Amino acid sequence: MPVKTKSVANARRSVSRSGKSKITNPKPTTHKWVWLSKEGNRDMRDLLGGKGAGLAEMVNAGLPVPPSFTITTEACNYYSAHGNQFPKGMWDQVVAAIKKTEKAAGKKFGDAHNPLLVSVRSGAKFSMPGMMDTVLNLGLNDETIQALIHQAGARFAYDAYRRLIQMFGRIVMDIEAKKWDAILDEAKKQRGIQMGKADPEKDTKDTDLTTDDLREVVRQYKELYKNELGDDFPQDPYKQLELAIKAVFGSWMGKRAVDYRRLNKIPDNLGTAVNVCTMVFGNMGDDSGTGVAFTRDPSTGKDELYGEFLINAQGEDVVAGIRTPMHIDEMQERMPEMYRQFREIARNMEKHYREMQDLEFTVEKGKLWMLQTRTGKRTAASAVKIAVDMVAQGLISKKEAVQRIDPMHVVQLLAPRFDDNDKKAATARGDYLASGINASPGAATGIAVFDPDTADEWNKEGKAVILVRYETAPDDVHGMYASKGILTQHGGATSHAAVVARGAGLPCVAGCEDIHVNEAAKKFSVNGREIHEGDFISIDGTTGQVFAGKISTLNPDFQKETDLQTILAWADEFRRLQVWANGDYPRDAVRARAFGAQGIGLCRTEHMFFETARLPIVRQMILAKNAAERQPFLDQLLPIQRGDFYGILEAMDGLPTVIRLIDPPLHEFLPPFEELLVDVTKLQEQIRHMERDNVDASYQKRELADKENMLHAVESLREANPMLGLRGCRLGITMPEITKMQVRAIFEAACQLKKEGKDPRPEIMIPLIGNVTELQNQKDILEPEAHAVMQEQGVEVHYKFGTMIEIPRGALTAGKIAAYAEFFSFGTNDLTQTALGVSRDDAERTFLQKYVDMKILTANPFQELDREGVGQLMEMAVKQGRKTRKNLEIGICGEHGGDPSSIEFCDMIGLNYVSCSPFRVPVARLAAAQAALGHVTKDK
Ligand code: ADP
Ligand code: MG
Ligand code: MG
Repeated sequence: MPVKTKSVANARRSVSRSGKSKITNPKPTTHKWVWLSKEGNRDMRDLLGGKGAGLAEMVNAGLPVPPSFTITTEACNYYSAHGNQFPKGMWDQVVAAIKKTEKAAGKKFGDAHNPLLVSVRSGAKFSMPGMMDTVLNLGLNDETIQALIHQAGARFAYDAYRRLIQMFGRIVMDIEAKKWDAILDEAKKQRGIQMGKADPEKDTKDTDLTTDDLREVVRQYKELYKNELGDDFPQDPYKQLELAIKAVFGSWMGKRAVDYRRLNKIPDNLGTAVNVCTMVFGNMGDDSGTGVAFTRDPSTGKDELYGEFLINAQGEDVVAGIRTPMHIDEMQERMPEMYRQFREIARNMEKHYREMQDLEFTVEKGKLWMLQTRTGKRTAASAVKIAVDMVAQGLISKKEAVQRIDPMHVVQLLAPRFDDNDKKAATARGDYLASGINASPGAATGIAVFDPDTADEWNKEGKAVILVRYETAPDDVHGMYASKGILTQHGGATSHAAVVARGAGLPCVAGCEDIHVNEAAKKFSVNGREIHEGDFISIDGTTGQVFAGKISTLNPDFQKETDLQTILAWADEFRRLQVWANGDYPRDAVRARAFGAQGIGLCRTEHMFFETARLPIVRQMILAKNAAERQPFLDQLLPIQRGDFYGILEAMDGLPTVIRLIDPPLHEFLPPFEELLVDVTKLQEQIRHMERDNVDASYQKRELADKENMLHAVESLREANPMLGLRGCRLGITMPEITKMQVRAIFEAACQLKKEGKDPRPEIMIPLIGNVTELQNQKDILEPEAHAVMQEQGVEVHYKFGTMIEIPRGALTAGKIAAYAEFFSFGTNDLTQTALGVSRDDAERTFLQKYVDMKILTANPFQELDREGVGQLMEMAVKQGRKTRKNLEIGICGEHGGDPSSIEFCDMIGLNYVSCSPFRVPVARLAAAQAALGHVTKDK
């Protein structure tokens, strides 16, 4: 039986979406709180919830839907806001709707001869966990059951009754599930013993229970209900209904629902609707059944019905997995006519909605009933294939196809992922260890390594390693690049580890606080288990999970993702923004181009200083007392930098390449102060001992002198606030030799390429400009240097001089700055830090998450651009800059350049391009198109 990787029930539960809300202030008495399904339609999801609007639309489309009605989300909001009271008039409308339903169904609520039974189902605008589960068979009581016995037999009737008491008791009245289960399990056990089953507890099915057994279960259920609550199970159907409606409304403000909404940024004021729906029974014999199906395969996107079906069962049985359902194809053999009708409806619903649908249906004695339709949730691969196929089938336009893909799907599609079966096996083995923050998507397997140097070394030996650190710092970067993935115990979604990993397209699980990393001992422990250096681990940066041992991974190849390529090609037709990439190395540039980047928006030059072989030269350059002493070291660095620039300009041939001159504070290139202090103290101690024992300490003394020198230098560079200190253009201004050397290196490389027939397009970016005089100062030194090189080499290179706008003063005086800058690039990481007065690295650890949890901020401003504040500075800078220089080229190179919401904003204020990590380029291409196709403002 072809049941595929994920069960339908599971597939239906994943993913979520957020969206618009509607705040209304209705007059309770005259207001319409209750809608019959035939009165509503698909566009009323705000008011009727997703389920209610779906039922209404199916009625409109002429499909067989059991008579039903919906109580609105407004009623729910009223109820929450008024001390759990129904709005006046609502109940009368419910009673009136029941009367109409009775008429349509030809049955009567609470009638002793022909009772109407209903289901009560919650339904918010988006299906979300935490909402109340459905209660079936409402309306049954000691009297109405007699009619049911008469109509469908005693066994069926008692089975329905015990389900009602159990669901009502558990879901509406909150009596623990296990208490109900205990009674049923005992009944099954007794039956099993009588039947002589080998294992009476496990081998006995619900269906083995006899009428007498079920009657006894009902008796015990009522007893349990009374013992737990002091009241009898309500016999009045209207009382049952009232309590059930209240429970649905109450579940909206339940903890699980509230937590889920916080996490997914869904507003509280959406409310949930309540759907009351005439019961139909799939458990009335072998000509009955129930099932769920997607109109297309939700994991692959294949255009065929995908679902599960059970004969002689109620809906819950499929979802709850009590019995193993059959694949929907089998329904074709068992109930050919029902299958034909259902497939027809499925096709029509898909055409009608022009979207893949997730359907629920029940067959009662050879009649098909539709119970639910909604947009089907799907995997990334399926989403892309369905969109492309639907364009080919003429169901949707290219534009719609582009609009339908969630940018996150692109990320997921391109990230390496675990082999599903292998991951299941690992979980079954008990190898799941812990979960952290899913900081950078993708899965990786490798041996655990606890320091960057070993990572580097082992990588060179061809081993796949995963770098495990308490947290990472800039001098870990070489080890991070050498790893297949990063795992940290500490730090959030914009911690150093997360940012570098995303930039490099490496999977990263950050802030996995359940593990205890001991870097010195080269191990981590988790739940009493220890992982040592050299042991295999597997991490999934998409889910945040960490496993012991190997799990094989599948590596998608962008070039072979033809459906995605198609979508992105369409996206390119619609977008206005260009998409550039941030990249420091030629390999980044190559990758960026393969992903469709149209330029390099940020090439940082300082990593070139960090490399092991170069660091000693860099340190001597920094320690030099004056320009003259500094020059020899700069002379040594020049050819090295020229080589780096040659590589990247060559890879970006014909496309603009923005190179940022040295930016970080110099102390970052020196050993940490504390470390030096310890070394110096130790050496002093050692020398004292040696001298006391009359041992020659001259070697140690020389070492001490060196260390002391370094210590003084570090001390003199030490700043209380390095983020606001001697960095960016301030370095270039105080030590112009350094930036001059860099510009020379860039132009020498460019000229050489030019001579080789290439088309290098360097754009020199001067960082951290707050005052036009700073830019003037640097440009006056650097531009002549550029000209000098071009003259020496006898070639002209197409170039630009410009600046990063990353401190508020720069944005505020952009009009003046534009007189000297041919381009702006918004460095929104620093711009956010300085506009908000928040240090990113510290705030992540201390209060930022709390702010988001408490809703003081709607999102982490380092992940999603703060439009209102930082955005205003940007908008102002764009306007003023272009006033001065009409063709000013403006882009963004902060982390935000890869974030869809931020990209949308960049489109709105008219930037020329966004620049993001190479791996984000496909996402940005899509997001830029979606932005151009309509600025949907997200209200949260
Ligand atoms: P969910 O949001 O969990 O899908 P539903 O109310 O749709 O909640 O589903 C609960 C189960 O009960 C489903 O299998 C559904 O088909 C079934 N169900 C709901 N209402 C009825 C009804 N009126 N008649 C028969 N089955 C129903
Ligand atoms: Mg539900
Ligand atoms: Mg359902």
